[in-house]
Amino acid sequence: MARIVMKFGGTSMAGIERIRHVASLVKREAERGNEVAVVVSAMAGETDRLVQFCREAASVYDPREYDVVVASGEQVTSGLLAITLQGMGLNARSYMGWQLPIRASGHATGLIEGIDVAVLERVFDAAGIAIIPGFQGVTIDGALATLGRGGSDTSAVALAAAMKADRCDIYTDVDGVYTTDPRIVPKARKLDLVTYEEMLELASVGAKVLQTRSVGLAMRYRLPLQVLSSFEDVPGTMIVDDILGEAHMERNVVTGIAHDRNEARVTLVGLPDRPGAVAAVFGPLAEANINVDMIVQSVPRAGEKSDLTFTVPTASLAHSVAALEGVKADVGFTEILTDTNVVKLSAVGVGMRSNAGIAAKMFATLADRNINILAITTSEIKVSVLIPEEYTELAVRVLHTAYGLDAEDEA
Ligand code: ASP
Ligand code: MG
Repeated sequence: MARIVMKFGGTSMAGIERIRHVASLVKREAERGNEVAVVVSAMAGETDRLVQFCREAASVYDPREYDVVVASGEQVTSGLLAITLQGMGLNARSYMGWQLPIRASGHATGLIEGIDVAVLERVFDAAGIAIIPGFQGVTIDGALATLGRGGSDTSAVALAAAMKADRCDIYTDVDGVYTTDPRIVPKARKLDLVTYEEMLELASVGAKVLQTRSVGLAMRYRLPLQVLSSFEDVPGTMIVDDILGEAHMERNVVTGIAHDRNEARVTLVGLPDRPGAVAAVFGPLAEANINVDMIVQSVPRAGEKSDLTFTVPTASLAHSVAALEGVKADVGFTEILTDTNVVKLSAVGVGMRSNAGIAAKMFATLADRNINILAITTSEIKVSVLIPEEYTELAVRVLHTAYGLDAEDEA
């Protein structure tokens, strides 16, 4: 017997037909003798619809009331799944966030502070199945709270950690984590195993299968996560702590290629060569809560000026430019250039730790195709380059091949 959290995303819950199918998967897991808690999302599109209602009601709205509105999507699907399971003769019941409770730190983008599992223990003792709405919790004042968009993944992982589950299965509309976006590279392969660290890097650079926060949480509790399809009955991708033994030896050095179009490039022209100039640029950006990622500075000859290039999320570009305009005269750079037609490509893999030449291969492969590199960053398990956006598909494809990730290379 195992203790399992099953989480179903919005497409899996979109309509009674699909909920019935989800119920059959829950039933199967329960009939294997497992203790099962189910976390559900709202039906696909529902949360967007509810958010839009709030916006239409008032351009500036109270986050407490926003939570009351948007948390309702998950309440509906929880109840419907419980009804469906009961109709199949199973002992299932829904428990809202406040009924456990799932304690949240605040409104609209709350963090989970703790989950009381006493109610769930009683459900399992009575051989029952618990259905819990994702995305919602309750504040210290007893008000409904939500956890930020995509928060149901985090609900599921936090619940699994609190109830010391053996596994958390995330059912979604893709059947696992791929070596790259299969829409760009048809030869992309599904990965059997990926580490938390790799998944965090892949998720943060645009491979959006799971909310990044949920992966960090699973890593902290060493909770095995599985991403799998609710539509196809095939094994998914396991996300684990470490990959040991044979599986490790046969694994590629590079696990996946991710791309992220949501970065914009900023270049400050004519930055004076003096201590404190760079600090005077990034200080105001940090204060404005802007996440600077790649940074490149040319080293000037003594006394001359240099250029400073960095990337910020495209959504923060306008704010960044405003903050920079504010310090332009004081710091003494002459121009702010921006470019949103860029993409960040990343090769990710824990195997990089013990292998040289990964970055060199990336640069050579892109050079072969005459693709210019605008900025570079590396970490222990990642090499990222910024390139013109028009080369996205080509670059992903040639790198996928160069690192031996194409499906036919596997034999
Ligand atoms: N329904 C919420 C959203 O769309 C939470 C989730 O599904 O993860 O953001
Ligand atoms: Mg989601």
